[in-house]
Amino acid sequence: MALMITSECINCDVCEPECPNQAISMGETFYVIDPARCTECVGHHGEPQCVQVCPVECIPLNPEHVETPQQLMAKYEHLMRAAAVTTLTGSPAAVPPMPFSPPDVTPSGA
Ligand code: SF4
Ligand code: SF4
Repeated sequence: MALMITSECINCDVCEPECPNQAISMGETFYVIDPARCTECVGHHGEPQCVQVCPVECIPLNPEHVETPQQLMAKYEHLMRAAAVTTLTGSPAAVPPMPFSPPDVTPSGA
């Protein structure tokens, strides 16, 4: 699942620079997480970095974005490819949407 920030957020600014996917930004009244960019830190760290640093524990799982570990890894790989394209082209291209259907993990021949 992607994570989400609740209205308990005190806008302390601590989590935003810790996110390896640039998924956290300031919203209208408090910080928000872009579910298209949050991988629960899968691919980068063993634990969600924002949760580790938040002083008020206001970053739960987002029930509207249920994802398997395989889907989170696929999202991470998608984000890395998009970052590589941005580096190669020199333009900060928006990350295109990706399908969030689970990858086929059925062993061949099964
Ligand atoms: S869990 Fe990781 S990827 Fe998701 S918002 Fe927090 S720091 Fe960013
Ligand atoms: S660390 Fe927690 S309280 Fe601070 S800005 Fe992030 S979500 Fe809000």
